[in-house]
Amino acid sequence: MSVRIVDVREITKPISSPIRNAYIDFTKMTTSLVAVVTDVMRDGKRVVGYGFNSNGRYGQGGLIRERFAARILEADPKKLLNEVGDNLDPDKVWGAMMTNEKPGGHGERSVAVGTIDMAVWDAVAKIAGKPLFRLLAERHGRQANPRVFVYAAGGYYYPGKGLSMLRGEMRSYLDRGYNVVKMKIGGADIGEDRMRIEAVLEEIGKDAQLAVDANGRFNLETGIAYAKMLRDYPLFWYEEVGDPLDYALQAALAEFYPGPMATGENLFSHQDARNLIRYGGMRPDRDWLQFDCALSYGLCEYQRTLDVLKTHGWSPSRCIPHGGHQMSLNIAAGLGLGGNESYPDLFQPYGGFPDGVRVENGHITMPDLPGIGFEGKSDLYKEMKALAE
Ligand SMILES: [Mg+2]
Repeated sequence: MSVRIVDVREITKPISSPIRNAYIDFTKMTTSLVAVVTDVMRDGKRVVGYGFNSNGRYGQGGLIRERFAARILEADPKKLLNEVGDNLDPDKVWGAMMTNEKPGGHGERSVAVGTIDMAVWDAVAKIAGKPLFRLLAERHGRQANPRVFVYAAGGYYYPGKGLSMLRGEMRSYLDRGYNVVKMKIGGADIGEDRMRIEAVLEEIGKDAQLAVDANGRFNLETGIAYAKMLRDYPLFWYEEVGDPLDYALQAALAEFYPGPMATGENLFSHQDARNLIRYGGMRPDRDWLQFDCALSYGLCEYQRTLDVLKTHGWSPSRCIPHGGHQMSLNIAAGLGLGGNESYPDLFQPYGGFPDGVRVENGHITMPDLPGIGFEGKSDLYKEMKALAE
């Protein structure tokens, strides 16, 4: 039996939305949807792996078509197989993609590679006939835990959105089973943000906790001014205060903010993650790491990031990835991450859960679907199938 990648297809799709955070608006946001087509048949159907990149970084069609997909298709198919020869080896496919790429300067090639890598893992788990989270747990000698913590990310700035709309939005997340909600800060002045935070805290009361996200907007002075304001409140975390690569700022902030800090969604390699751990003053007993595999070279690289964390005394349970996609849900369930982001009302059909999966007490339970589980989400699978056929 041969196992061969016969095609890698990409299409750039809009995921626009009239929202903004402290840094960007999402009116022209796009994503790349990728299909890795194999010659393997399962249950009378050809195995196709699917992937897409997380919101916030735009589609990567040029890079995918010109470099990364082309290298996979040019590689000797035998060199992409596992030792037994009955499945693809994701690390070998990854290695083929990264042929003739210099180190460092990760730019957005990490998004292009991460998108294809997601599709490769989907195909590998489907060929193995298992949910990806179970395949991952087996590979790492762990027990899978299909119950995963999820929190509701929203609270964006939106034209004409006042405090009552913001409160109503947060209430609707609670009504849908979430017990941690997140809102944006830094897109207004500190006085207005304090009123927004107080309004949300009053609305959610003891039913939920609130996280806030500055999206890398603040310099050190503003970040500290906010820290002094925010530490009056029992927040779940204070996220991405300054520039993602300014580790000295993050470390200085820790002196003013005893509560949990979170960051990492805009670090795209295990080397950058290592620098954050080495120099960013992040505390393994309370802080959270948000690296998103779909933006940062995929799961092959994410496993290296988890190794880096382990070496430095961090548990995978301190990771709650950015992005709200099913890939990170599988990693969480398979490798023991602390949970995953979720955008209940945004970035559809890409984000969210398989049909019928409900949030209860801030957790979902993964269904046993082969691969990543995209086939269980009908609106998303419709788009995927159109690309593959
Ligand atoms: Mg964020």
